[in-house]
Amino acid sequence: MVCEYGSELKRMVEVARVHTENGKLADYIPALTKANPNDIAVSIFDGQSTCFSEGNYNQRFTLQSISKILTLALALIDHGEEVVFDKVGMEPTGDPFNSIVKLEAHKPSKPLNPMINAGALAVSSLILGESANEKVDRLIAFVCQLSGNDFLTYNAEVAQSEFETADLNRSLAYFMKQHGVITEDVEELLSFYTKQCAIEVSCEDLARIGYVLANKGKNEDGIEVIPADVARIVKTFMVTCGMYNASGEFAIKVGIPAKSGVAGGILCAVPNKMGIGIYGPALDEKGNSIAGMKLLELISERYELSIF
Ligand code: GLN
Repeated sequence: MVCEYGSELKRMVEVARVHTENGKLADYIPALTKANPNDIAVSIFDGQSTCFSEGNYNQRFTLQSISKILTLALALIDHGEEVVFDKVGMEPTGDPFNSIVKLEAHKPSKPLNPMINAGALAVSSLILGESANEKVDRLIAFVCQLSGNDFLTYNAEVAQSEFETADLNRSLAYFMKQHGVITEDVEELLSFYTKQCAIEVSCEDLARIGYVLANKGKNEDGIEVIPADVARIVKTFMVTCGMYNASGEFAIKVGIPAKSGVAGGILCAVPNKMGIGIYGPALDEKGNSIAGMKLLELISERYELSIF
C-alpha cells in the first residue's frame, strides 16, 4: 500500500491544497473558526497493511455531520429498520442540510432522511440512554469499536459552542416535538446532538471506520462490528444524501459513498476495497470540504474507485 500510493498521493494532496484558497471555515459554530483553512489531509486504509496518510493528517477535528451515519447505524442496531424509518424517511431533499422547509411541506411531518439535521435529530432521539451523557458515552464506545481507537472522546469546547448557538436546530427539534416525531426534552436532545457532533477524530479514524462500512460491517480481523444490512443501508444513504445537496454532483465526479461534516471531514467507504478519511476545513458554499472534494476526485480517477 505504502509503495503503491506514496509519492502520487503526496502530489495530489498538494494539487488539492491550492483549492483551500477558494473555501471558507464554518463560522456559525464559533469554535470551528480556530482551524487552519489551508490544512488538507488524507488517510487510506484497505485492511491489509497500516493506514497510509499524507498532508496534515495529525490534525484532529470534530465529526459534525459525519456523526449522522454513526447514530443511524447505532439506532438501526438498537431498534431495527421499522422503528427507525417510522421516524425518518429515505429520500434525498436537494436542500441545504439545515433547511426547515420540507419538514412542513410533507405530511406526516417526518424528516425526509437521516442525513439532514432534522432527520439526524430524530435519529439521535432514538439512541438508548437515560441522559445526554449516557447516550454520548454509548455512542463514543460504538465509534471506538468501529475505528479500533479506544481513546476517542468529544471536544467539550466545540460542543458548548454549538449548544449556545444552535437555535436553528432547536427550532427543528421543537417543530418535530409539536408534531410528535420526537417526544424527549428538546434541550436534552440538543445537548446530546451537539456532543455527538463534537466527537473528535483524525483522518485515520475516519479511514478505519470507512473500511468497516466498505467491508460489509467487518473489521480487518474479520470481526463483525455492525451487521452487513446496517452497513448497506448506511452506505446507500451516503450515496444519495451524504454530501448534502451536492450528492448528485459528487456521485458523478467521485462516485464513492461518502459523508461530510462542517469541520472539514469526509468519511468514504469504497465497497469491498478501502476506507478513506479526508480533512480540509475550508468549505464550499454547500458546507463540503472544498479541497477534500478535489482530492477525492483525483484519487477516484487515478485508482478507478467510482462504484458506477
Ligand atoms: N453540528 C452541525 C449542525 O448541526 C453539523 C452540520 C454539518 O456538519 N453539516 O449544524
